[in-house]
Amino acid sequence: MSVFDHPEFDQHESIHYVHDAATGLRAIICIHSTALGPAAGGCRHWQYASDETALTDVLRLSRGMTYKNAIAGLHFGGGKSVILADDATPKTPKVMRAFGRAVESLGGRYITAEDVGCSVDDMRNVSQETSYVSGLTKSGDGAGGDPSPMTALGVFLGIQTAVKARLDSGSLQDINVAIQGVGKVGLNLCRLLNDAGAHLTVADVNRDHLQQARDEFPVTEVAPTEILFSDVDVLAPCALGGILTAQTIPKIRATIIAGAANNQLSTEEDGARLAEREILYAPDYVINAGGIVNVAAEYFGNSSEEQVRAEIGQIPTRLDTIFAESKATQEPTNRIADGIARRIVADGANQSKSRMSHG
Ligand code: NAD
Repeated sequence: MSVFDHPEFDQHESIHYVHDAATGLRAIICIHSTALGPAAGGCRHWQYASDETALTDVLRLSRGMTYKNAIAGLHFGGGKSVILADDATPKTPKVMRAFGRAVESLGGRYITAEDVGCSVDDMRNVSQETSYVSGLTKSGDGAGGDPSPMTALGVFLGIQTAVKARLDSGSLQDINVAIQGVGKVGLNLCRLLNDAGAHLTVADVNRDHLQQARDEFPVTEVAPTEILFSDVDVLAPCALGGILTAQTIPKIRATIIAGAANNQLSTEEDGARLAEREILYAPDYVINAGGIVNVAAEYFGNSSEEQVRAEIGQIPTRLDTIFAESKATQEPTNRIADGIARRIVADGANQSKSRMSHG
C-alpha cells in the first residue's frame, strides 16, 4: 500500500524515513501541518510489532498534535516522530544525536521534545545536533524541563471539570480514579489526585513504576488487563493509545474518561460508542495539552512557570465548551473537539495564504 493511501495519512505535508547506518537509528518523522507554525510534537522511542504499526502510530500522533496545538492556542503546527527500537539498537547518546541531525536537516519545520520512552537527558543529546528541540532544562522560575508535571496538572484540572459536569461534584474528595500507567505523567497525576482526597486504583506493566506509586501513595493495585474495567468514577488512561475499542467500551464501568494518553480512541466511532453509554470522554488532545504548553514556553523563552500554569488553567474552560456543545448537539465530544481544531487550522491556513497574496 502506498503511504498516500494509508487510512491515517490525512493530508500530511511530509513524512520522513530516517536511517543512520553508523548508529542503526531508524526513525519516522511526520509533519502533519505547518499552517499555524512549525510542526511541534514529541519523539517516541518504542519497540513496535512492525514498521507498519509504527507508521500508523506516528501518523495518528502527528495529526493529534495539529489539533492539540491549535486548541491550545499555540503558534505551532503538528508533527511527531518515532524511533523504532529494537534489541540490537539500544537508546544510546549516539542514536539520539543521529536523531538530532535528522531533525536539524528539516531546517526548523519540525520541533521535537520528549514522549514515551524519551527523557530530558535524551533531549539534551538531541540538542547537541539541533536547536529545534525543547523539554531540556528549567532554570529558576522560568518554564521548561520535563513537561510531564505540567501535563499531569492539565489532566488533573480536566478531571475536576469532568467530575463537575458528569457527577455534579465540586470536589474530588472520595472520588475513585483508576490510572492506567504510572509513568512520568501518571505518577504526577497520582500525587495531585491523592492530595485532593481521591482514591487511587493503579496498574502498570513496569514493576519499578508500580513500586514507586505504591511507596508514595495508598493505592489499590490491579492487573494491567483489568484496569480499564475497574469499578471507579473516573478512568484516567496514562499509558498508550488505542485502548478504547468496540471490545473494551462495553465493559467500562467508569462514567468519565479523562487521562493523558494520546489517541485513546481506537477509531473515531469509539467516541460515539462512549457517548451512547453516557460515558463522558474528555478529548485526549485537549486535556493533555499542559506539556506542550510548557514545551512552547521553553522554546520561545518568554514565559515563567507561573504563566504556564495560568495557561494550563484554560483547559477547564475549553473542556466546558466542548461538553456543553456536545450536550446541546448530541454529538460526541471527540467530534466537537475535532471540528473546533479543524476550524482553527483552516483559519490559520487562510490567513497565511492571504498574507502571501498581499506580500
Ligand atoms: P511513560 O513512558 O513515562 O509512562 C507510561 C507508563 O505506562 C509506563 O510506566 C508504562 O510501563 C505504562 N504502560 C505501558 N503499557 C501499559 C499497559 N498496557 N498497562 C499499564 N501500564 C502500561 O510516558 P508518559 O510521558 O507518562 O506518557 C503517558 C501517556 O501520555 C502517553 O500516551 C503520552 O503520549 C501521553 N502524553 C505525555 C505527555 C508528557 O508530557 N509526558 C504529554 C502529552 C501526552
